[in-house]
Amino acid sequence: MKPNFTQKVTNWGNFLVVEKEMKSEDSIQKIKEFVQNNNEVIARGNGRCYGDASLSEHILSTKRLNKFISFDRLNGVIECESGVLLSEVLEVCVPQGYFLYVTPGTKFVSVGGAIASDVHGKNHHLEGCFSEYVQEFSLLNEKSEVITCSRTENSEKFWATIGGMGLTGIIISAKFKLKNIETAYIRQESIKADNLDEIFKLFEESGAWTYSVAWIDCLQKGKKLGKSILMRGEHAFRHELSKNLQENPLRLKSKLMPTIPFYLPNFVLNKWTVKLFNWLYFIKQQKKETKNYVDYETFFYPLDVMNDWNKIYGKEGFIQYQMVIPKENGKEGMKKILETIAKSGNGSFLAVLKLFGKNNPEAYNSFPMEGYTLALDFKVNKNLKNLVEKLDVIVEEFGGRIYLTKDSMSKSSLTNYLQNVQNPKFVSLQHKRIINNN
Ligand SMILES: Cc1cc2nc3c(=O)[nH]c(=O)nc-3n(C[C@H](O)[C@H](O)[C@H](O)COP(=O)(O)OP(=O)(O)OC[C@H]3O[C@@H](n4cnc5c(N)ncnc54)[C@H](O)[C@@H]3O)c2cc1C
Repeated sequence: MKPNFTQKVTNWGNFLVVEKEMKSEDSIQKIKEFVQNNNEVIARGNGRCYGDASLSEHILSTKRLNKFISFDRLNGVIECESGVLLSEVLEVCVPQGYFLYVTPGTKFVSVGGAIASDVHGKNHHLEGCFSEYVQEFSLLNEKSEVITCSRTENSEKFWATIGGMGLTGIIISAKFKLKNIETAYIRQESIKADNLDEIFKLFEESGAWTYSVAWIDCLQKGKKLGKSILMRGEHAFRHELSKNLQENPLRLKSKLMPTIPFYLPNFVLNKWTVKLFNWLYFIKQQKKETKNYVDYETFFYPLDVMNDWNKIYGKEGFIQYQMVIPKENGKEGMKKILETIAKSGNGSFLAVLKLFGKNNPEAYNSFPMEGYTLALDFKVNKNLKNLVEKLDVIVEEFGGRIYLTKDSMSKSSLTNYLQNVQNPKFVSLQHKRIINNN
């Protein structure tokens, strides 16, 4: 007989739906008991990883670890429990003139999830990963002890946990540094690139910009392969804003967030709707280059404007495939990848290219390496596994790797940068799959 507290759980891709035990506790004692009483436990933040990383036989949801502990306004250091979402951190810190040093493309991830995946943003080439700004965290380890981990205390556990995908224990709380901002706005430039050569040149030229990212139309072929729009940005100073924004430069008006109410039927999203979407996206920007000011939500979180947008992919779900190719092979590797995707006819609504700077060698479980990273969404269909296998071969050939927090079906050899995390207590379905594939 099944224990009566099992429930259906799935992550953002809705690809793998499992029925497992999931508990959410706010008392450390209860979390300790849960860990003591079970093997194969994994922490789950907000389920914004795409595949099976935060799924296991026994899932500890951190949703109730949602309290702020302290905010040092003078030095911009915040301490909170691990289930606090980055959106909640922003609500507290932006009005005080602070912003996250590193933020992923959605603000709906937990602090614990941001550390466990060591997330990156549009500024990795200059400012690195989330972990660069983490001063310490407390971790419930395999012995059910809560230990403090920092660069000087339990430093082995500190580095194994960063990018460690929850396999070293449960992060209970964390303390991290914020960056100063004068306004909640970004000075943005958007530049169209006709092909891969142009977009790579633009990235090189934009090296001094704090933020850069490109949106690629991956159904283009031949001379138009790599057709894209580069967006680069800087936090705006107060004096740059219009007079009415200068009055309250750290406040944004609240916005209505529409919700996708149900899973769209399978036929809605296909090669032709993706083509139409890409066409509309490019036509929206008429000039080769535009300059404007946008609020931080528009710049950093364009996908967050709609709740549950993952439902547009239908009940079968979707995967995200994110790889990095070392810089020296970047263009050649991306060319081969984009050609393979265009040939397969598997359109991707979302295809985002970013530049990574040098990685921090101490954070050995972090995904980034100096090079170009491309993230693509693919609706699940019967040919997808075949496409992923082909892409994996190219990534391997060019010395790249796959981002674990996005992975759902990749080759284990592309994810084996994950080290020092093996123990029977904390196990995820993803880790089991990777080990079994070896
Ligand atoms: C629209 C969208 C855009 C994204 N853009 C980016 C991006 O630009 N850059 C980027 O790096 N990522 C990006 N991501 C991925 C996302 O940032 C990561 O998957 C992040 O880890 C999700 O956090 P979560 O709180 O939802 O954690 P979950 O998805 O629940 O878990 C993710 C991993 O963290 C572990 N974990 C969670 N909480 C804890 C804890 N308290 N203790 C120990 N381990 C824990 C889990 O076990 C799991 O291995 C994006 C995701 C989406 C949906």
